[in-house]
Amino acid sequence: MAKQKLADYIAKRKFDATPEPAPAPLAARNGPLLFVIQQHAARRLHYDLRLECDGVLKSWAVPKGPSLDPSEKRLAAQTEDHPFDYASFEGVIPAGQYGAGEMIVWDCGVYSPDEGGTWFHERDEAERRVREGLEKGKLGFLLRGEKVKGSFALVRMSDRKNWLLIKHKDRFAAKTDLTALDRSVLSNATLNDVKGVPLKRLAAERLVPFGEAEKMPTALSP
Ligand code: MN
Repeated sequence: MAKQKLADYIAKRKFDATPEPAPAPLAARNGPLLFVIQQHAARRLHYDLRLECDGVLKSWAVPKGPSLDPSEKRLAAQTEDHPFDYASFEGVIPAGQYGAGEMIVWDCGVYSPDEGGTWFHERDEAERRVREGLEKGKLGFLLRGEKVKGSFALVRMSDRKNWLLIKHKDRFAAKTDLTALDRSVLSNATLNDVKGVPLKRLAAERLVPFGEAEKMPTALSP
């Protein structure tokens, strides 16, 4: 299923020429859904917002990056689904290749749809709600990242390709310019020094908690 969804991703890339990951079989995942925001110095600098759903990363290119200010609606152009493993990719896409330029993992963490509740620990229900929201063109979700926190909405515009990324009013709403923070949450590199970062990557699943949730014991022995 994921393979079919990644046909566009595969068609745009030559995996012997780019260090980006080729789609690989994905072990069954559990735990909360992952999100990542990569900063990408392609022809034009932008931020790639990616939300894990159904084994792939649903993706949007956000030219100005996310804003914590609810009055700042940020354009988010939907792009092709990316493989899950892309979440930990940072490095340099060589000149001449699709998306050529430097990329860092600017932020990552867990997320949940958040209309009427949150489902951080009910993955199936979370994915069902994300799928439903994206189909109808309106998804509310809560990000728990290192830089970006709080409730957002993605709202599809009538052209069906462009969306708006909007901060909801909550305790994380602020006028602070998040994009002033310019370092990778994985390597501490900026786009300028990512060329010197070794290509050995963390597995994407290591970015967020995973494994079966276990109940706290009701009694602890000394
Ligand atoms: Mn990009």
